[in-house]
Amino acid sequence: MQTQLLINGQLVAGQGAKQAVLNPSLGSTLVEIAEATTEQVDAAVRAADAAFADWSQTSPAQRSALLLQVADIIDANAEPLARLESQNCGKPYAAALGDELPAVADVFRFFAGAVRCMPGSAAGEYLPGHTSMIRRDPVGVVASIAPWNYPLMMAAWKLGPALAAGNTVVLKPSEQTPLTALKLAELIAPIFPAGVINVVFGRGPSVGQPLISHPKVRMVSLTGSIPTGVNIVSSGAATMKRTHMELGGKAPVILFDDADIDAAVEGIRAFGFYNAGQDCTAACRIYAQKGIYDEFVRKLGEAVSTIKTGLQDDESTELGPLITAAHRDRVLGFIERAKAVPHIQVITGGKAVEGPGFFIEPTVLAGAHQDDEIVQREVFGPVVSVTAFDDEAQALAYANDSDYGLASSVWTADVGRAHRMSARLQYGCTWVNTHFMLVSEMPHGGMKLSGYGKDMSMYGLEDYTTIRHVMIKH
Ligand code: NAD
Repeated sequence: MQTQLLINGQLVAGQGAKQAVLNPSLGSTLVEIAEATTEQVDAAVRAADAAFADWSQTSPAQRSALLLQVADIIDANAEPLARLESQNCGKPYAAALGDELPAVADVFRFFAGAVRCMPGSAAGEYLPGHTSMIRRDPVGVVASIAPWNYPLMMAAWKLGPALAAGNTVVLKPSEQTPLTALKLAELIAPIFPAGVINVVFGRGPSVGQPLISHPKVRMVSLTGSIPTGVNIVSSGAATMKRTHMELGGKAPVILFDDADIDAAVEGIRAFGFYNAGQDCTAACRIYAQKGIYDEFVRKLGEAVSTIKTGLQDDESTELGPLITAAHRDRVLGFIERAKAVPHIQVITGGKAVEGPGFFIEPTVLAGAHQDDEIVQREVFGPVVSVTAFDDEAQALAYANDSDYGLASSVWTADVGRAHRMSARLQYGCTWVNTHFMLVSEMPHGGMKLSGYGKDMSMYGLEDYTTIRHVMIKH
């Protein structure tokens, strides 16, 4: 197992405290890895800073060629990478291999193409005797901080646009799920100049904090929780760092009386419980109009009760464990508090699964009210709530009554209503008659406390550049 850090083109062992990395399906330790010390974080940032001078001057075509090689390496190593990802996250191997690995490679291919097509405004003479032009140049050293739920995907979302734009990167994967990022570091180190990509391992306070507050880091990109985002934005203020924040979510799923109930049930069974609901866009906060509420709740309960929990390598497994015992207990806390609310009914699930891993039964809680904790707060587990609503205005008010603003969906047969709702929902994404679908060409990112900054798409690439004006006197 590859457990070394990548600093200045060399694989080196961490010199800091050892951390256990777990298999959450069994609750057992896969490996212990030593964290980077503050000196190693400093060495990684300095290597990235030194590499920036040459890397930032490579042509888009040169960078594109290397990113295409990264995609090919990922394809060639898809099976071992998916195996590692499923062991470290508990997610079903078939889903890691079939859903995630192709999308990871595609992100690198997208940015390899996108950087050769950067759009911009025309140069011109806006002052007589002077020509102005706009440049989009790289920002510098980017510190990229990733969460534990989709480790390799998040590494791709961060490395792809940053490298394509000509930045150098120090990536810190989550301390809970570092294995595929460390493996990727080993696989792709030989194709990049030393220092262009560095990968360090460790916890937020001991390794993340010195990284994000390093004076040579010009931009910090985080996918993670809101408290971590607030901390990073505050810490970066003193050195005026650019920040790119992809934070939590609590996606509203609005079902009107005219929706195809069976399609919605099938969609929520899939997209409310994918990755054990540990997904910032999970279809978890359901609003059902009163005319279909009873039928929908019954059908959803029946469908969700058939979701099969199990170990990664069992091909019939649909639902894996939560990432840690602490996170399982946090999710169980939400369920227990919801159960204590008299108007909430447990339609299915509601308990931990006996055994060594960190599993929770797929859970549907119905009858929830708008101001209940289960409706307002991100649970990040295999739990959905259902709330009844009267009409379009109430659905919209409920959906927007949230601190979060990442993703939403509307289920209706009425095209006009779909447009009206999409125009008024305060979310970075609204899906109509589906949920959860992401493509490399389209932006992913939030509003409100879900953050700002876009991943994927041309907007993601632009976020990793700075706009500059060059004016030439004739
Ligand atoms: P987290 O905030 O606990 O950790 C995220 C990363 O930040 C980890 O690598 C962690 O080590 C690091 N970190 C923590 N403190 C730090 C500090 N002081 N300085 C620097 N780095 C620090 O989040 P998590 O528990 O790993 O992930 C779950 C959260 O991520 C959820 O809220 C989820 O909604 C969110 N998420 C959002 C998206 C999105 O696209 N918007 C995608 C996936 C996950």
